[in-house]
Amino acid sequence: MSSVFDKIDLERYSRQLPMIGARGQIDLASSTVAVVGLGGLGSLVSYYLAAAGVGKILLIDGERIELNNLNRQILYSTRDVGEWKAEVAAQRLRELNPDIDIEPVRTEISADNVNRILGEADVIVDGLDDWRARLVLDEYSQKTGKPLVHGAVDGFYGQMTVIVPGKTPCLACIAPKDLGYRGCRAALGAAVGLVAVLEALDTIKLLTRIGNPAIGRLLIIDAFNSRIEEITLKPVECGRCMERIVEAQDLGLKPEKPA
Ligand SMILES: [Zn+2]
Repeated sequence: MSSVFDKIDLERYSRQLPMIGARGQIDLASSTVAVVGLGGLGSLVSYYLAAAGVGKILLIDGERIELNNLNRQILYSTRDVGEWKAEVAAQRLRELNPDIDIEPVRTEISADNVNRILGEADVIVDGLDDWRARLVLDEYSQKTGKPLVHGAVDGFYGQMTVIVPGKTPCLACIAPKDLGYRGCRAALGAAVGLVAVLEALDTIKLLTRIGNPAIGRLLIIDAFNSRIEEITLKPVECGRCMERIVEAQDLGLKPEKPA
């Protein structure tokens, strides 16, 4: 533990140490986070995780940068158009923080590669814009027990929650039935950023075990009217997360708020 701390550049993190402490900084340095999707959400989340000193960040995206990405995907510049998002993101984040390990993975996540790619991760961050791929992350999270930090944006509106298997409903339980979220087809950069910052914050809080992440609470972000509301998530007939929640209750690990 102290050997990890000895390697940490205290000057770099001096403004956050009062909040998270040496223990929190060591927790960050010892953690691996997978950011899946490096669009508007993933760019900002990975930026803050790298800046905060998360020891290893997996950057997963199989797309190239387009000009229409630049209104919200803050890791990329005009000169990067045509380049791979994962590669450019890795380069930017290494410039930001050379003390951490950044691993670009130039592929789309799928049921075939999810175990291999996310194997090392302690926490999974959803930066996707496709519900089918999100449900692959959800399945993986439920199978492995790893927390999934979910965010989604549609125009001025967004949602965010932290899914902890055995403690909260799974993502499939709260997915729109028609899978109709259009992702970031229409999005104002700052509105996407708002959801991304909430994801980054709760990832850091999960890793350092401070504060109250949105575990079992769905935050509904209305950036048009500048409002954030929340819904307490209750298990529904899912047959998957329900079983785990009952199991967790048997063990005395009750959900945050009883349904
Ligand atoms: Zn469920």
